Amino acid sequence: MHITALAGGVGGARFIRGLRHHLDTTPALADSTVTVIANTGDDITLFGLRVSPDVDTLLYTLGGGIHEGQGWGRADESHRVQGELAAYGALPQWFALGDLDVGTHIVRSQWLGQGVSLSEVTARLAARWGLPERRITLLPMSDMPVETHVVVADGDGEGDGAAERAIHFQEWWVRHQASIPAQRFVVAGLDRATAAPGVLDAIRSADVVLLPPSNPVVSIGIILGVPGVRDALRGTTAPVVGISPLISGRPIRGHADACLSTIGIDSTAQAVAGLYEDFLDGWLVDPADATTRARARVEAFDGPLLMTDVEATARIAAHALRLADAVRA
Ligand code: GDP
Ligand code: CA
Repeated sequence: MHITALAGGVGGARFIRGLRHHLDTTPALADSTVTVIANTGDDITLFGLRVSPDVDTLLYTLGGGIHEGQGWGRADESHRVQGELAAYGALPQWFALGDLDVGTHIVRSQWLGQGVSLSEVTARLAARWGLPERRITLLPMSDMPVETHVVVADGDGEGDGAAERAIHFQEWWVRHQASIPAQRFVVAGLDRATAAPGVLDAIRSADVVLLPPSNPVVSIGIILGVPGVRDALRGTTAPVVGISPLISGRPIRGHADACLSTIGIDSTAQAVAGLYEDFLDGWLVDPADATTRARARVEAFDGPLLMTDVEATARIAAHALRLADAVRA
């Protein structure tokens, strides 16, 4: 079986790891392949280095190098480089850059500087982390730079004091913890981007397409904005099944609710399913959200929809695959 999934960072990576565990421990499914299409709208250039937060979280989680408690960054990390940058007064200082993590950013930047495509760079990084051996192909959504920005109105405008300015998504999310109300998202480069090689084919030729419980606005929503991706999802013969990132209206971690209110969508499992209604066939929700109504077939998971560990996540993935079979029939 060939499975294609769209993914952001922590939510996406944890789900794919659980999915892979389910496949590997089910003899009939062990030789299944998984193609992950990663959000690159979070990408940012810091100190001349190209950082791909969601791709890095996927690499480290699927490759066994993740800081488990944090959900992102490397285990056993140190921050000596960041300390030196601070001693020079170099900005910004709000983005955590671990020493091991910096190695990834340096090599990515070096290869990009040599003219290597982001897909090829990502493939090389994935090889180091052993993803091909685990039958996982990691694709950036696009080889072209795309960056999500957030328009906020906290500025020094005259009178009502609400001058608008745009800041990088990372500055809003990491520095301000999404606490400044966002007016809207502006995704630089998205309308002119083309899907990276293999992305549209992976959706069209999949046996199942999964939407992990990634942020519906700034992770999945950005990938859906890459020209051609949404049409491929509408056109694929594969069942498309999603897992809700919200339980009783609340995100498990992060600020998906702030992102949803910015685009005028209620923070509910039902409203998130509505964002995908033109292509979604199945929607897996927490038992607390069992009354969710959607065009897709809704099923409640047998237990909390929480990726507490790899086994629990594998059971969620197994249910998503059963739901795919049910809607295919
Ligand atoms: P990010 O790029 O690191 O923010 O990660 P993603 O976009 O891939 O995933 C973030 C989303 O994952 C958030 O909206 C969370 O609500 C959701 N999430 C995280 N952990 C869980 C979990 O255990 N269960 C469910 N259902 N959703 C989760
Ligand atoms: Ca992200």
